[in-house]
Amino acid sequence: MIAKVEPLTTARALRGPFDYRLPASLAGVGKGSVLVVPFAGRRVLGVVTALAERSELPPEKLAEPIEALEASVPPELVDLGLWTAREYCSTPARGLQLVLPPGAGRVRAKRRLVAELAPDADPDAARPPLGPRQRAILAALADGPRPAAELGSHAALRSLERRGLVVVRHAEQRRRPAQRAVGAHAADGLELTGAQRAALAEIVAALDGRGERRLLLHGVTGSGKTEVYLGAVAAALERGRSAIVLVPEIALTPQTVARFRRRFGDTVAVLHSKLGAGERHDEWLRLRRGEARVCVGPRSAVFAPLPDLGLIVIDEEHDPSYKQDGDPRYDARHVAERRAEQAGAVVLAGTATPRPESWQRLRRLEMPQRVDGRALPPVELAGMAGVAGALHERTREALEEVRRRGEKAIVLLNRRGWSNFLTCRSCARVWTCPSCDVSLVLHRAEGVVACHHCGHREPVPQACPDCGSVSLARHGAGTERLEHELAELVAPLPVFRLDSDAAAGRGAIGRVLARFDAAPAGVLVGTQMVAKGHDFPDVTLGVVLDADATLRFPDFRAEERTFALVAQLAGRSGRGPRGGRVIVQALQPGARCLRHAARHDAAGFLAEELERRALLAYPPFSHLIRVVCACEEPGPELAAAEALRDALAGADAELLGPAPLFRLKGRERAQLVLKARDRSAAVAAVRGAVERLAGSREHRGVSWAVDVDPQ
Ligand SMILES: [Zn+2]
Ligand SMILES: [Zn+2]
Repeated sequence: MIAKVEPLTTARALRGPFDYRLPASLAGVGKGSVLVVPFAGRRVLGVVTALAERSELPPEKLAEPIEALEASVPPELVDLGLWTAREYCSTPARGLQLVLPPGAGRVRAKRRLVAELAPDADPDAARPPLGPRQRAILAALADGPRPAAELGSHAALRSLERRGLVVVRHAEQRRRPAQRAVGAHAADGLELTGAQRAALAEIVAALDGRGERRLLLHGVTGSGKTEVYLGAVAAALERGRSAIVLVPEIALTPQTVARFRRRFGDTVAVLHSKLGAGERHDEWLRLRRGEARVCVGPRSAVFAPLPDLGLIVIDEEHDPSYKQDGDPRYDARHVAERRAEQAGAVVLAGTATPRPESWQRLRRLEMPQRVDGRALPPVELAGMAGVAGALHERTREALEEVRRRGEKAIVLLNRRGWSNFLTCRSCARVWTCPSCDVSLVLHRAEGVVACHHCGHREPVPQACPDCGSVSLARHGAGTERLEHELAELVAPLPVFRLDSDAAAGRGAIGRVLARFDAAPAGVLVGTQMVAKGHDFPDVTLGVVLDADATLRFPDFRAEERTFALVAQLAGRSGRGPRGGRVIVQALQPGARCLRHAARHDAAGFLAEELERRALLAYPPFSHLIRVVCACEEPGPELAAAEALRDALAGADAELLGPAPLFRLKGRERAQLVLKARDRSAAVAAVRGAVERLAGSREHRGVSWAVDVDPQ
């Protein structure tokens, strides 16, 4: 028998599958088996993509695999991994990496010795009679098997084993991920509202094969979407199917994860990168063997090895974290639809702020009211033109009121650090990153100026190196500076900061959120992290600063992003009996997306946004593919992008560029963007052209990054 094996190497040029002869000892190997194979003089991991009766190669050229790993990939996930590679212009090896058991080849099952009574053993007949230690061990085993380490004397145990009274064997020991305690949720166990019941009925019908299988649960913040997910997962389990629940980021969604655990117990497995390698391996195996039937996790969990998949839930489907940054740059929402199609499963995407793509394509289930019947909070737009300082008069007054009444507020500013950039007052020098063409951001507490793109850091300058002046100006405000200002304003109330600087270490995000939750009063300030999924019932004020900052970037998704950010933050306020209000500060408070967000009008925003996209032929009315060429020296990256443009001249697509991008991490960059109606034809054209050019001598030293559906 011949195994077609895709070796998991990083080289783009080495592409399988390659044939290996299977010896009799590896007779159990099939599609999805993970093998260690000899390859180009090394031992590498490879995945079997198919079996064949014979090879085109002469027998003497065929090598044999060295060994097969215990855990194998389900065959349908081999197909999904290869599909993802093709769909996102990556290599088969990188696509298969996504579906591999975590730590494959490195992490093994943890085993320990377990003892149990031998069947038909008769201790009373033992000659010579048993000693007291041996009798104690037998007594301890009367109730069932026990780990050998808990049984005291090892010598006594071994002698019992020799006398045939006890069996000692190796058993797998599961490494359990630690679970953070999260308090019971107010919504647990409540009777469903009419809207929840109606939504659930449609989902159940879809599970039973009636009606549309791609659904969008559009529910305002506080409408009880999680309760519907729980009901949908329960319905899938009742039908003998399994379920995947995708969440934006595990650290930011402890409440959601905890609710699934409370409802379904140990049949829930959690898969995410913050787990230890052993824990991840064991959780993956539990899913693979069908011991766990529900998987909760971030985007990578879309590749979880569940058999009989019936449902994929995508919570907060608007969240950008569903798109992977590095190669393959897959979008878990797109992969989820493909996987559901393969498995005959239902896709349920839920959010208060749907993406135009989902709004247009998916069948909508509407939940327009909060479960408690409370109104959404009123949103005020505050114009900042001509206002000095970071806070508008009205915002100051509102925060003052929060202080006086001992309440809670959330303040969002999507900019880290103390101030945006530093200049010299005498010669106008701007401090920029030596590796990227961007300005350095001041982080006062650490005493550094840092690049937010490459991580470069240097001490805060005392004087200008160009002219010697000690008069330096700081421009703009970030979350660090805002934290200081707010601390003064609302003292003695505590201020908690949540951004990637303040919440660096493992578990730090959860600790900040838990402290804010536990405090009777206070202010949570931070980046977009503060607008994600948390439910604090006692927040009475939400503030967004510089809400239209994102609109000043040339990105066709800027409006969609801004709308979602403002509407999501607004939804964090006023969930308790005291009600709440929201203030949105902006330079241009009249901007379309802000006006719609202030009215909580997602449908109105989406209708206009889709009209605009149709006019400009932007997604969902077309597909974009972005190719970035980069290299050390200026010149070749642009030549490469131009060559790509020429190579694609015949393709049925609009070509934008090449355009130079700012230098990043010491690399010069240029990009070419394709806008096409036929996605698969465009992807195939780009894949072919990039592979040809990347392999040519002319463009040596240039790296090529392809991003299908760039965000
Ligand atoms: Zn100067
Ligand atoms: Zn940099």
